[in-house]
Amino acid sequence: MTWARNRGLLRSATQWPRRPQNGTARRYYGTGLEHITAVEKILLDTIKATGPISYAQYMQMCLSHPTAGYYMNPSNAVLGSRGDFITSPEISQVFGELLGVWLLSQWMHAGQARKIRLVELGPGRGTLMHDMLRVFSQFPAARSATEEIHLVETSPAMRSTQEAKLGPLAQSNGWNLSWRDAVDDIPHDASKFTLVVAHEFFDALPFHLLQKTERGWQELLIASGPDHTAPTTLKGAAGPSLDFSSVSSTATLAARLRQVLSPTPTASSTLLGLSSPRFQKLPVGSRVEVSPGSFKIARQVAELLHEDGVRSAGSALIVDYGGDRAYGNSFRAFKYHKIVDVFHRPGECDLTVNVDFAYLQEAVTDLASHHGPITQALFLHRMGLQARVNALKATAKDDDRKKQIDHAASRLVDPTGMGSQYKVMALMGKREAEPTEEERWPFVDLREQSKSKR
Ligand code: SAH
Repeated sequence: MTWARNRGLLRSATQWPRRPQNGTARRYYGTGLEHITAVEKILLDTIKATGPISYAQYMQMCLSHPTAGYYMNPSNAVLGSRGDFITSPEISQVFGELLGVWLLSQWMHAGQARKIRLVELGPGRGTLMHDMLRVFSQFPAARSATEEIHLVETSPAMRSTQEAKLGPLAQSNGWNLSWRDAVDDIPHDASKFTLVVAHEFFDALPFHLLQKTERGWQELLIASGPDHTAPTTLKGAAGPSLDFSSVSSTATLAARLRQVLSPTPTASSTLLGLSSPRFQKLPVGSRVEVSPGSFKIARQVAELLHEDGVRSAGSALIVDYGGDRAYGNSFRAFKYHKIVDVFHRPGECDLTVNVDFAYLQEAVTDLASHHGPITQALFLHRMGLQARVNALKATAKDDDRKKQIDHAASRLVDPTGMGSQYKVMALMGKREAEPTEEERWPFVDLREQSKSKR
């Protein structure tokens, strides 16, 4: 090579892209893997070092890795039309208002004597809490009885959104707003009446995927694919309908991550397989998605509601996708409101799994009475959906706005969609007298009540 040509090469070299400085990225530099997500790199490193990981580890890392996890990374829009999924409180204010009315009815049935503590698990953008609090602020007795609002939220990005949304309302009413990393950071205080809400929270908690075999329960794990340089394939990206039966939770052979069955039962597969009598009755070949984290948190919630078996220390409402049975193939991922493969762009997609409400009931049975789950449609209708919609329409500025109000409310109760897919379960601290039907699911006439508008 002549000197001149060599010099030309050097000059062009100054325009080459900089080599990545980050440790993990550097290791993959030049291997064709630079474009993989930060979480996927960590997962591949972990698998290389210690072998296949559980679905629980996968979900934990994808959603909650301290900096790169889906909920932790502020560059993920998460909720709303520009995000990856939309939730009921983001669709219509009526949802949060009617949940707020249910909570208030619990406090009223308990005699209204105690101060109120409100707790929300996974408050997202704070919209649901804001709608509930506006209801509380309309009733002078409840407004002055409310003292503390605890938000259980691990994501600093979400916390600041919640603070911006809820801070002014809390301040103007003299309510103390605080954030907690976990439910068990909230002290037990039976002198107050504790009202807990968890909407679309349990579906984001890690689960283990088990399969019943001739040798007992074995765990399905995630290994690295045979071809490390393959792109993560996007398989069967379905439309916005929630028909996830058409989307396999197993990646194709070309993917960097793939599902494998552990060769023998593991400690967690044996233990979790025994954790519900329902699982023991399932035939060989069955799969179950089991979330020990959900079991633990449901119990912690029930502990907050439990006083002494004579009087209740509070009530909770759990609203989520699922039913009172175990699921085996409900794990799915969302990106831009579409279902995508669960191994697609780890850390950049929402991951969700159906909630087994019967498992939550099994967790709380000695501490709380449980009611439902009933469908979201039934719950909202009983709580006075139509009356509230009519009141909102009566003050709407034009026909377009009236149509929007109607449309949003009908989405929430659509019998072929959200109305039947989402379920509502109530928990009440165990006490001597069984709650009446009216106490569990009251029929509320809102015509004479709140006229608040968001
Ligand atoms: N309830 C809200 C948002 C649901 S999204 C709504 O209905 O709009 C899930 C929420 O739970 C987010 O705020 C997320 O950051 C939070 N979250 C997820 N896993 C969590 C965990 N293990 N502990 C606490 N919060 C969690």
